[in-house]
Amino acid sequence: MRELVTHREWLCRLGLPSVFLFVIALLWSGAVSAITYRSLGVSTSIDGRTLSFVENLLFRVLDGGQFVFWINLVVFLALALLRVHFRWWVVLATMIVAGTPLAVLMGRSIARYLWAINKGGVPWEDVLPAPVTMGIVWVVALVADAVIDWRLRVCARNLVSKGICPECRYDLRGSIAGGSTRCPECGAPIQSVSRIEA
Ligand SMILES: [Zn+2]
Repeated sequence: MRELVTHREWLCRLGLPSVFLFVIALLWSGAVSAITYRSLGVSTSIDGRTLSFVENLLFRVLDGGQFVFWINLVVFLALALLRVHFRWWVVLATMIVAGTPLAVLMGRSIARYLWAINKGGVPWEDVLPAPVTMGIVWVVALVADAVIDWRLRVCARNLVSKGICPECRYDLRGSIAGGSTRCPECGAPIQSVSRIEA
């Protein structure tokens, strides 16, 4: 996780990805609920008519997505205030690949438990799993982001110590000896290379 210089820079680079993630997270929470309902054989009816999967999904987005909405709003505000740069695709991948099965399994377990003790189960299935999973998704995604940054830095440092440009892999040993300040191949400043090493 790199820190960006200004709040303006954060907004320019991460404003649109944040809005995109926000919308996907709301649809995701609806999808998780709709999948859980379907897998439990529960159907939702309004005025005696059973909702289709898509109608159920949109209904769940409006119904249960509010908690996911608030969690994401708080996280985005914190990231914007602290000017933390994050990779939006890491969050998206974590949400879909790890978050979906986790939320569905959690939703099924909660519903089954509440049915077993004869207290229904549908409202809690809706309220709990998606927001709890969303919180876990953010923690996992930000840790993964930090690990990716660390690996990239180690990689760049190794290349620099061998006299290789970390941007384009050009052999810089001759250029450094000749006193060049930029990589002759891609133009990356050699100073920034030594800053990575610091
Ligand atoms: Zn280069």
